[in-house]
Amino acid sequence: MVRTLNVKSRSKTEFIDITDEVRELIRESGISSGICYVYVPHTTAGVTINEGADPSVKRDIITTLNKLIPFEGDYQHVEGNSAAHIKSTLVGASQFVLIEESKPLLGTWQSLYFCEFDGPRHRRVLVKIT
Ligand code: ZN
Repeated sequence: MVRTLNVKSRSKTEFIDITDEVRELIRESGISSGICYVYVPHTTAGVTINEGADPSVKRDIITTLNKLIPFEGDYQHVEGNSAAHIKSTLVGASQFVLIEESKPLLGTWQSLYFCEFDGPRHRRVLVKIT
């Protein structure tokens, strides 16, 4: 069974912490040992795992991605959002987390982030727990 998390981004580029929501889906699934797949069905968004304790880390990642892949450039895609497509490909559309004792095996400092690259928008994150 696939669960859907609805996410609403508020900025053009934004990382939204979805760790608590995913943790809750794992708990609800009743699966004590397994794998949780987190998948973003969008071409201008992504999902990543990185530090959740210090908010300046996500700020630094976003700033660096925007520097590496500027919004304006020698792009041909007529929709005008090539930077978002490129960032989505670099970050990736999926992650997985191991589950033990009905909990995600995330490191102490790790959080799961939905990554918006062409917001603000309503987005979906699909979660499959096996
Ligand atoms: Zn596009």
